[in-house]
Amino acid sequence: MNEIFALTAWELRGKIANGEVSSAQAVRSVLDRIDRLNPRLNAYITVFHEEAMKQAQEADARRSRGEEARLLEGVPVAIKDNFTTSFGRTTCASRILADYHAPYDATVVEALLRAGAVIVGKTNMDEFAMGSTTETSCFGPTRNPWDPDRVPGGSSGGAACAAAARLCFGGLGSDTGGSIRQPAAFCGVTGLKPTYGRVSRFGLVAFGSSLDQIGPLACDVRDCALLLQAVAGHDPRDSTSAPDPVPDYLASLENFPRGVKIGIPRRFIQEGCEPAVVSVVEEAARTFQSCGAETVEIDLPTLRYAIACYYIVAPAEASSNLARYDGVHYGHRTSQKEPPGENATVFLYSKSRQEGFGAEVKRRIMIGTHVLSSGYYDAYYLKALKVRRLIKEDFDRAFKECALVLLPASPSRPFRLGEKVSDPLAMYLSDLFTVSANLAGIPGLTLPGGFAEGLPVGFQLLAPPLGEEILLQAGYAFQKETDWHKRVPPIAEESS
Ligand code: GLN
Repeated sequence: MNEIFALTAWELRGKIANGEVSSAQAVRSVLDRIDRLNPRLNAYITVFHEEAMKQAQEADARRSRGEEARLLEGVPVAIKDNFTTSFGRTTCASRILADYHAPYDATVVEALLRAGAVIVGKTNMDEFAMGSTTETSCFGPTRNPWDPDRVPGGSSGGAACAAAARLCFGGLGSDTGGSIRQPAAFCGVTGLKPTYGRVSRFGLVAFGSSLDQIGPLACDVRDCALLLQAVAGHDPRDSTSAPDPVPDYLASLENFPRGVKIGIPRRFIQEGCEPAVVSVVEEAARTFQSCGAETVEIDLPTLRYAIACYYIVAPAEASSNLARYDGVHYGHRTSQKEPPGENATVFLYSKSRQEGFGAEVKRRIMIGTHVLSSGYYDAYYLKALKVRRLIKEDFDRAFKECALVLLPASPSRPFRLGEKVSDPLAMYLSDLFTVSANLAGIPGLTLPGGFAEGLPVGFQLLAPPLGEEILLQAGYAFQKETDWHKRVPPIAEESS
């Protein structure tokens, strides 16, 4: 039974359904692995030992009563710690929420439970999902399972690490500017950011509300399809969720049509990228050609402004969303008393926020407040919204020439811990290839595409709005031709 971890979620689901493996065995094996490896990797903030075992036993009991297996019946999965849960805490990896217990479950959490999944824990992340390395977490950084001296990416670094080291059978992260796709690339797993609105954001702690989207990270495309199937759909509690019916992603996985055109903005890629990443993208293009696709050169001229635009829009929205953490409505409250002569309320707000937020979150709040302040609003925020529209139009034009766009997921391989943490600009620039999909609201899929000096290198495919089906089909076709997604980091194979 030691080999359970080597199964995909899809395979495990089949074995649980036919009685070859029980959910209790699967959950126990995951919990044992977490106990053994998490002290080194720090992928989880909270682990639900007892609750997960209880849920597993319920799944097994349902089976013995002859009830039909649901989509994720008995399968151990993880969720990022910015989804509210009525059980356990929801910290967003911030001191300000370190002991926050939400009164309700996020819609995606309800959906996972309704599909029979067993939630084994909540994964580490950058504080409030602001970052690209998981280093801004108040619980300390997550390590890259391929090289523990390197970062796993971020902000969903815990989820990507857990999926790669097989400390779960996939999970959910959130992506505001790349937080699913970039850590997936750094950890050698598959990650999908769906179209804005495809998955309900109700119960996702807000960062940039017009950019945030929830999606799966898992070891392959089929598992991502499985997780997406469980959580996609309209939700009356999120007015921005899409009313469109959810296709049967699993049933159509094999139907990648022949002759699909994949656009490659080569000039843009070559300008800002490490050679190892460029060669993975070129190799991927050749693989897609052998899957029957045609590649064409395209131009996306406004993408070079995407970082400047994103780092105005996202902090602007964040500064407004994070106003609620004042020590009264939500969050840590200072125990200090105002000094004589100071206004008690102002002191309480500012001291609580000063103690509760980390440096990067404070930086974003300051940038966001600045670009929204009168006198600067037109020059920064309004201008950024206009650039955002141009980026969207660039994609609209490109998708008239091709069905998919091929891009790197990150300009480089995983950085060393600490390498960029004191240089925020360098950190922001590393989001070059991911933020434009959020600005345009379109879906993006990261696939493992190779290795360079022992480190995984991923790339991404982008599609028009609600193009998840063709993205998954393309990814599935790619993974039939390659085995990068089957590689497991050595640390995950160490015997106990
Ligand atoms: N790295 C980006 C940022 O720091 C994206 C984060 C995210 O997608 N949550 O804002």
